[in-house]
Amino acid sequence: MSTTSRTLKTLFLWIGIGLVVSGVLKVVLTDKNPPRGVAYSGFQTLIDNGDVVSAKIYLETDFAKVYALLKSSTYVETTVPSAELRDLTKRLRDHGANINISEAKDWDWRLVVLLAVPLLLLIAFCFFLVRSVRSNAKNVLAAARATRTGIGYDLHRLAEGRKLIVGGIELPFDKGPVGHSDGDVLAHALCDALLGAAGLGDIGTHFPDTDPQWKGANSLLFLEHAKKLLADKNFAIEHVDAVVITEKPKLGPHFPKMREALAKSLGVSADKIHLKAKTNEGVDAIGRGEAIAAHVIATISSQ
Ligand code: MG
Repeated sequence: MSTTSRTLKTLFLWIGIGLVVSGVLKVVLTDKNPPRGVAYSGFQTLIDNGDVVSAKIYLETDFAKVYALLKSSTYVETTVPSAELRDLTKRLRDHGANINISEAKDWDWRLVVLLAVPLLLLIAFCFFLVRSVRSNAKNVLAAARATRTGIGYDLHRLAEGRKLIVGGIELPFDKGPVGHSDGDVLAHALCDALLGAAGLGDIGTHFPDTDPQWKGANSLLFLEHAKKLLADKNFAIEHVDAVVITEKPKLGPHFPKMREALAKSLGVSADKIHLKAKTNEGVDAIGRGEAIAAHVIATISSQ
């Protein structure tokens, strides 16, 4: 699942949680018996009729808010001018009602909860979002740090009487590369690209052309050795892109077999190896059919 999908899924989850929690709180906290607003004159009539059991009076600057419990177990609320307050309290006491006078109305905790819960959910979601973005950024940076590339180049002269081996495959041709090993330019350039990406030197370091054991050697052995060196350093081969330059023969038809051979030596799937062929348009030694060359870029990752 992609990062965007995960973030959207989590976003919808949080929205769902928020809606459910708000709905539940609204049902639980809604006042089942809300006070009925009455005019002050009407409230006076209720007092005179002996209907008021108790009253809470909250003092404001120029008036007071009164919440009263009636004998019918219902509540009423009214606003009283400050000038009428003395008369009101006397009237309530005269009719036996309990009075509670406060400087200001207490917090309505139900309202506080209803406002606080969505706010807390919003803060929690923002926290999650920031954490998610930071985590994704770290992963991207880590992936970028773990990826390395290397470049490789090789050229061999072509001479009659030599086998033409490119990418581990022998091609039908009347010339072949002159070299200490089999002269496979593609395998050599690829080997250098891999070793360079891993910071492990070059092909000459590991397989010197002065060493008789490599005389006429199959260059796929070099790749197998490079693969082991990379594995020892916990590097994995991600992608190989190569260009082989030769005037003749046509290489394209042989690429599938070359990719298979190279991939087998490197222990990767063939789709990680991309090959291209170029001619040199008759220019210089390659163009005259005197040489064959290869350029390779290899991408590896730290595991
Ligand atoms: Mg070479």
